[in-house]
Amino acid sequence: MAKELYELGEMPPLGEVPPTMHAWLIRPERFGPPMQAFQQEVVEVPAIADDEVLVYVMAAGINYNNVWAGLGVPVDVIGARNKALARGDQGEPEPFHIGGSDASGIVYKVGKDVTNVKVGDEVVIHCGRWDRNDPWVTEGGDPMYSSTYRIWGYETNWGSFAQFTRVQGQQCMPRPKHLTWEESAAYTLVGATAWRMLHGWGVNSVKEGDVVLVWGGAGGLGSMAIQIVKEAGATPVAVVSDEDKFEYCMALGAKGCINRKDFDHWGMLPHWKDTEGYGEWVKGVRTFGAAIWDVLGEKRAPNIVFEHPGETTIPTSIFVCDTGGMVVVCAGTTGYNATVDLRYLWMRQKRLQGSHFANDVQANEMNQLALDGRLDPCLSQAFPYDQIPDVHQLMYENKHPHGNMAVLVGATEFGLGADAEPTSALPHPTLPPGDVHTTPHPYPMSEPLPGIGTTD
Ligand code: NAP
Repeated sequence: MAKELYELGEMPPLGEVPPTMHAWLIRPERFGPPMQAFQQEVVEVPAIADDEVLVYVMAAGINYNNVWAGLGVPVDVIGARNKALARGDQGEPEPFHIGGSDASGIVYKVGKDVTNVKVGDEVVIHCGRWDRNDPWVTEGGDPMYSSTYRIWGYETNWGSFAQFTRVQGQQCMPRPKHLTWEESAAYTLVGATAWRMLHGWGVNSVKEGDVVLVWGGAGGLGSMAIQIVKEAGATPVAVVSDEDKFEYCMALGAKGCINRKDFDHWGMLPHWKDTEGYGEWVKGVRTFGAAIWDVLGEKRAPNIVFEHPGETTIPTSIFVCDTGGMVVVCAGTTGYNATVDLRYLWMRQKRLQGSHFANDVQANEMNQLALDGRLDPCLSQAFPYDQIPDVHQLMYENKHPHGNMAVLVGATEFGLGADAEPTSALPHPTLPPGDVHTTPHPYPMSEPLPGIGTTD
């Protein structure tokens, strides 16, 4: 007879799903810093729908979204889901949140309509969910534009910080067998986001011979972007906050690096009528542009600028971007007010393009690189299961290393799961010892945006 509950690391026989499981839960009554918000509990294993899969989680990736979930800002994700359900929208009833938007694991149960995976398959999971019956999706529209689109493990419950996670079949992708469980869990969210940013925008998508400026080259997104750009036969130029990260970015494929601490023209644009202030800014941004030429050894502007810092860097990104080029942005880490001198935008016909995660096709295209051994997951640190709150607390306090982090869930030790040789040699660089984020984390979370700060 099946056991009621398996201890962590005690793997149930393949395909046997116990009624309950261990999980780290966030509840509204303890919203706050991660050490307060996350607590271990035993909960029922969720039932699955016909298009869903239950995956036994071996390791989970760490992302900033579950610091937000724990804080309850800018959105109370639990209240939002409960209210949505109450008014008949897509929602969920549980009064708690199990986070985790990245995972590696083993398929334990499949719904009757799932055709891409079977029980026993080793998978990594991308975090994009949507209603397959949404007319927009059935008519072939990009699911990323569907109103039913949700980020699993943040906007939905039952993420990867638990023994079992509930996902849609289409979220499952083959796991690179040359990687450990924790390495496999680390790259999908950032890798797929970077892939769509670079490959998802028609004529402006990255192509052989392009130059791409990558902000935060040693960060989660940036480390993926450098490798994806290199794979496309283009030239990545990385920006970082310290020369000690130059070697890391160059080992990943950057032609060269720029230390942003050598410049001080950051922030919102001075008003164009402020002749003196504007003149100073132009001087700063031109010097920065010249630093790009120095790296390239020629006077060329980037065809693509890979953006996520936002407020402090957007004016520079738009200025240095080539005529007809694209600044593609997926975040506003330093703030949301992107100031633009429209003269450069229209006269030089540049594109400022928003981008958010990725659809299943793009996630699989990115994953193919990882399967082929041509994408290093850039795992900087892995943690045991009982440190899920600690690792989020490190992020919250901005004391985490660059690159990507993961935690073990079902895997009993670090380093397990790498059962095959990679088909090509990974660069596998390491960050400088003791590396942590030096810029205080500026996510402006305490001031929710009008319209998204409510639980509706
Ligand atoms: P990360 O690992 O923390 O890296 C962020 C990088 O930004 C750091 O490496 C840092 O590098 C750089 N940075 C920090 N402050 C900066 C500043 N003032 N100017 C220039 N660069 C600065 O985070 P990540 O995983 O790459 O994610 C970056 C952002 O994208 C976050 O806001 C995240 O929430 C968001 N994101 C969005 C999506 C989406 O689908 N929309 C997906 C993934 C992530 P240096 O200090 O070395 O410069």
